[in-house]
Amino acid sequence: MASPKMFDLSGKVAVVTGGNGGIGRGIALGLAQAGAAVAILARNEEKNRAVVDELANAGVPALAIKLDVTRRDDLRPAMEEAERKLGPVSILVNNAGIAIMGSALNFRAEDWDRVIETNLNSCFFLSQIAAQSMAARKQGKIINIASEYSRFGAQGIIPYAAAKGALVQVTRTMAIELAPHNIQVNAILPGWIETDMTVVAQSGPWFEEIIARTPAGRFGKPEETAGAAVFLASHASDFVTGSIVYVDGGYAIR
Ligand code: NDP
Repeated sequence: MASPKMFDLSGKVAVVTGGNGGIGRGIALGLAQAGAAVAILARNEEKNRAVVDELANAGVPALAIKLDVTRRDDLRPAMEEAERKLGPVSILVNNAGIAIMGSALNFRAEDWDRVIETNLNSCFFLSQIAAQSMAARKQGKIINIASEYSRFGAQGIIPYAAAKGALVQVTRTMAIELAPHNIQVNAILPGWIETDMTVVAQSGPWFEEIIARTPAGRFGKPEETAGAAVFLASHASDFVTGSIVYVDGGYAIR
């Protein structure tokens, strides 16, 4: 029987990369409201501090660790700091992401590398570190933030689409490998959400196109991604792994 307790995250520790703004902040606050202690990992210290204050208002232990997820050597120390200060991490949300637009014909190699390192490589290596600790405790939840571009091609977005497509495959393959350790690995696939990343699409012809294609007829709010995250972080999803949960107002079905 479903009961609110199934979604209760009291006593759990969550790490959210890019948790200081946009979708990451929405998810961090949702996890905190469900009772989890939350560590956010991102670069901008001012934004980090502001969200830690909001998390603390939810009455849970909260922490920000300054981290650039592209610095691979810094990933393990950041996870260790979260565990030292908050306790064993049983929920990891790989949310930090960037979009650099450009044409496939002359896309700069350094921009390609930056997008792939941020949106794909960091998600795998952080998941690997988290899973080593989760496996020892036979319990864990890894949630990757995918994109409509995990599924569709589009103009001018080649490394972003490549990274997000691969992230879904990372989700599926890690789900299989980690299932015997009782670690569930799933993805949330947001549609168009009002954040800094989508400011350019929030007006003009692009906006009209998106609204016309989205059955719900609007952009989503960052906090509307939190429900799926709480579900995938909780016992309610213990038999759900390798799945993609769409939070997109129906964009992908039209
Ligand atoms: P925002 O630009 O609002 O937020 C991005 C977050 O990622 C910030 O908190 C930023 O913090 C962090 N970040 C970026 N680069 C790094 C880095 N190198 N190291 C650590 N943190 C980093 O974007 P959104 O909230 O829109 O996007 C969040 C995720 O959702 C991304 O993966 C994005 O691809 C995905 N997504 C977004 C959609 C949308 O419509 N908005 C749709 C589908 C997917 P800081 O700069 O302080 O490091």
